[in-house]
Amino acid sequence: MSEKESSIKKKLPVILNGQFFKPDGKCVLCVNKTIKFDENATGNLHKHLKRVHPNSYASYEAMKSKVAKKEENKLSEPKPNFFCFQSSSQLNNTMRLYYR
Ligand SMILES: [Zn+2]
Repeated sequence: MSEKESSIKKKLPVILNGQFFKPDGKCVLCVNKTIKFDENATGNLHKHLKRVHPNSYASYEAMKSKVAKKEENKLSEPKPNFFCFQSSSQLNNTMRLYYR
């Protein structure tokens, strides 16, 4: 695997997941059309999808918001907290044991 490929794989935009475009910018919906794009700016891909494949662009938008929601859920997942499972009096007893 070349260095370029691995860097693309590291943070692949949703639009390049192979459903609309291959990671190298090749349009899946057009035959043999590769859209030039900057690794950090997929605007050209969006433009192409919106202009040439409006239906796919709509489903891409839906998919993107779905992914964003998924990531949001991941972030807001409650972290297990030891102190949550103890009442304050239990906590005091525990502290006393430790500091005796
Ligand atoms: Zn296309």
